[in-house]
Amino acid sequence: MLGQMMTQPLLISSLIEHADRYHGQTEIISVETDGFVTETNWSQIAGNARKLASALTKLGLEPQDRIGTLAWNNRRHLEIYFATSGAGFVCHTINPRLFPEQLTYIINHAQDRVLFFDATFIPLVAALQEHLTEVRHFVLMGPRNDDAVSQIPGVQFFDDLIETGDAGFQWPSFDENTASSLCYTSGTTGNPKGVLYSHRSTVLHSFASNSRDVIGFSAMDVVMPVVPMFHVNAWGSPYACPMSGSRMILPGPDLHGEALVKLIDTYGVTLAMGVPTIWQGLLNYAASSGSKLASLQRTVIGGAACPPSMIETFRESYGVDTVHAWGMSEMSPLGTANHPLAKHRALPLEDQHKLRESQGRPCYGVELKIVDDDGNDLPHDGETQGDLMVRGHWVLDRYFLMQEQDILQDGWFATGDVATLDPDGYMTIRDRSKDIIKSGGEWISSVELENIAVAHPKLASAAVVGVPHPKWDERPLLVAVKAEGENPSEGELLAFFEGKIAKWQIPDKVVFIDALPLNATGKVLKRNLRADFNEILSG
Ligand code: AMP
Repeated sequence: MLGQMMTQPLLISSLIEHADRYHGQTEIISVETDGFVTETNWSQIAGNARKLASALTKLGLEPQDRIGTLAWNNRRHLEIYFATSGAGFVCHTINPRLFPEQLTYIINHAQDRVLFFDATFIPLVAALQEHLTEVRHFVLMGPRNDDAVSQIPGVQFFDDLIETGDAGFQWPSFDENTASSLCYTSGTTGNPKGVLYSHRSTVLHSFASNSRDVIGFSAMDVVMPVVPMFHVNAWGSPYACPMSGSRMILPGPDLHGEALVKLIDTYGVTLAMGVPTIWQGLLNYAASSGSKLASLQRTVIGGAACPPSMIETFRESYGVDTVHAWGMSEMSPLGTANHPLAKHRALPLEDQHKLRESQGRPCYGVELKIVDDDGNDLPHDGETQGDLMVRGHWVLDRYFLMQEQDILQDGWFATGDVATLDPDGYMTIRDRSKDIIKSGGEWISSVELENIAVAHPKLASAAVVGVPHPKWDERPLLVAVKAEGENPSEGELLAFFEGKIAKWQIPDKVVFIDALPLNATGKVLKRNLRADFNEILSG
């Protein structure tokens, strides 16, 4: 017997329609590229999205055509998200921090027909234009701009284009498995690979992220996604927030501590999301300015391991609860989030705090397991570590337009992370499999060593890499960046590890550098460090 309930396709347009109808006056604050702040609301975003969808349709694009964006977190970008996907096109967000050759590759590979870009990127687009063979329309996200006219032949303007659209545009209905948006992985080896999300996967991911033990956005929240809208769709917040009717603060291009603290304090941000490096800048500025981050209740930190010392500072100094989360582009991105279970209430406070340090447990819709080199399942005992495998409703099946299509192993996606899982499903990421340090047949987690190092008050940041060693194959090397005005010695840093981990895991050496090399999504480029210091322990 078939079920007898309505079937409505899970479409992204339904998210913005909901926000328009039930949260229309809820504010969206947008910092524009020139620093000017625009105040708008969900109804205006929805109205503009409809008009822009109509304007794009009139350009004569084919269904599923890709529409690229090179843009910060701002309100026009939000309108493009809904206009493109809602009209049946694919919203392709592009990371502007990639090298020009990678940008050219990605835009051509995706066959972007339209390229929207913020004023910041006028010189970049001018330099790339002749190589972008597929793009038919270059659209600056703003009003007419003479700089753009002089540098980019044929450039169009968002504010003119939208006026050609029809305010009465009706969102089309189609199969929920239709592609909606596209992100390329940052591609640390080889060419970047495209992950093509669907309407269904995006809406289901929004339901999941809106559950209380994941992020749980609320109509009472003022949400600031600091994670860029070009990095896995700002972790899905532009879709989950209209579903819950949250206010949004879109911080624009300036992500320094000072700018972020001011936005939090001015607009009463209750929930902010981003990678650990961003929060370090924010905490430094909050400490020096004396801001108490009074409105902030929660931070969601992921994208890289969040050091326990950061969780503690948020908790002890600012009364902010940190939700440590893990995910990846191939997972839309949410996989796990760290929230306690009822039984943990009975534990001493210190143990409760300790439990909040790991990457957390999977929500409904994601399954995790760990396997050995031969693909055999390993126990979930919190001790055994193995290659982390995932499957679920918003997990990648195959990469966009790639020859090699059979990437799953028995229906599971190999994340490339090495992790432990405990009987309750709490996961601890030990490393990326290529970063784990193999010393004399034992594995050392670089993440664990880094978490200790960054808690040292005389360090601004630190990374640990395995470098070749004549006796042990590899040994850990601590690459450290001194905090301003501090001059720690190698000996005092190494002594800091004593008693915190086994003696044989303590790094062999410390080198000081001015700044860690970061990739386009703010992650430390460990392969560069390994190359730079390859021979440091060989002699
Ligand atoms: P991306 O697809 O660029 O978002 O990168 C995904 C990768 O980032 C994961 O496979 C992990 O290696 C890493 N990652 C994300 N979140 C965390 C976290 N909370 N702790 C440790 N690593 C993380």
